[in-house]
Amino acid sequence: MTKLPASTLTHLECSICDARHESDELQTICRGCGRALFARYDLDAAKQTLTREGLGGREASMWRYAEVMPASELAGSVSLGEGMTPLLAAPRLGAELGCDDLLVKDEGGNPTGSFKARGIAAAMAMAKRLGVTDVGMPTAGNAGSAAAAYCAHSGITAHVAMPADTPPAIIQEVLNLGADLQLIDGLINDAGRIIAEGCREHGWFEMSTLKEPYRVEGKKTMGYELWEQLDGVLPDVVLYPTGGGTGLIGMWKAFGELEAMGLIGSERPRMYVVQSDGCAPIVRAWSEGAERAEPWQDAATVAPGIRVPAPFADDLILQTLRESGGTAVAVPDEAIVPAMRRFGRLEGIDACPEGASTLIGLELLLADGTIQPDERIVLFNTGTGLKHPELRPEV
Ligand SMILES: *Cc1c(COP(=O)(O)O)cnc(C)c1O
Ligand SMILES: [Zn+2]
Repeated sequence: MTKLPASTLTHLECSICDARHESDELQTICRGCGRALFARYDLDAAKQTLTREGLGGREASMWRYAEVMPASELAGSVSLGEGMTPLLAAPRLGAELGCDDLLVKDEGGNPTGSFKARGIAAAMAMAKRLGVTDVGMPTAGNAGSAAAAYCAHSGITAHVAMPADTPPAIIQEVLNLGADLQLIDGLINDAGRIIAEGCREHGWFEMSTLKEPYRVEGKKTMGYELWEQLDGVLPDVVLYPTGGGTGLIGMWKAFGELEAMGLIGSERPRMYVVQSDGCAPIVRAWSEGAERAEPWQDAATVAPGIRVPAPFADDLILQTLRESGGTAVAVPDEAIVPAMRRFGRLEGIDACPEGASTLIGLELLLADGTIQPDERIVLFNTGTGLKHPELRPEV
């Protein structure tokens, strides 16, 4: 494999108050205002080699964007092969919905069967470089199995807390990957309290969504891949099943970096948040025109990855919707399993429930004229249906 260029990471900057933080020490949230930190790069240096031609011979993983990734020099030892997933044409599904140009970014082939691998791999590379020995991870499920896998691969101990009613296949996966697992009576935010306590008490490094600065860097590579796979022209529309919002915020950050490097102009996709009507804090906040989202009570959905009642970066999710001209849509939870079948039957894509929810969101947004049938539309299937035996046809 050809050697990757060096990272051009320079520092971290608060996403809200712009306060500078150093990237050569462990960081979590802004010391000033307590909000999420963003990695900043020397993009003038990065753009010397990060070009569509320059990417040509590089490895087919998210680390091909090494210039704009943290700790890229550790990619070889940390990576399990995450990223550079297929962007599939979905003509049969498109024909049923009346869309001319429907695409599916299929994340199901990632290590541990979901796109959580991207974020965790990036965070793990940085944690490894800065000497972390124990990671604390509150999760709705998939981030826990990704943390377990990447910790194991790097010789780091993973301490995972997740709801006891997480789908059994995901619990088994975490155990099989050797993590120290606590099942809790509650949701991801309750797991967050337990992990924060463990971190204070035992000195674990907390890696929860956007309270750690580099997971978003891994997930932003989905934005770079869309750009590269569509020959430098971003799609009109992106539908994203949104829990903590890392991927949505990350792709939006990627588009900003691409523009700063002169690789795209000011054109952007409209970004659409899809949530289940059983847990839709962003949809509610958006419809009320609020800047922050209130916690969702009694969150319940068959899609654990979007069962996030109080996302930490609600403000950044809402800001992305405003800047992109998108919107947030809640889909009936009982429509999700039928949508998984439809993905399978029409396109051979074994979608996870979160990914399947975007199909229902698209139908709703086509019906009310928000999305036009001749637009280029990308649905995110964020994981594999294989993690959900509980939602599959009975045998
Ligand atoms: C975590 C997760 C999501 C939500 O992703 P965010 O970027 O945190 O909003 C969607 N789908 C699956 C399968 C997930 O595991
Ligand atoms: Zn700040």
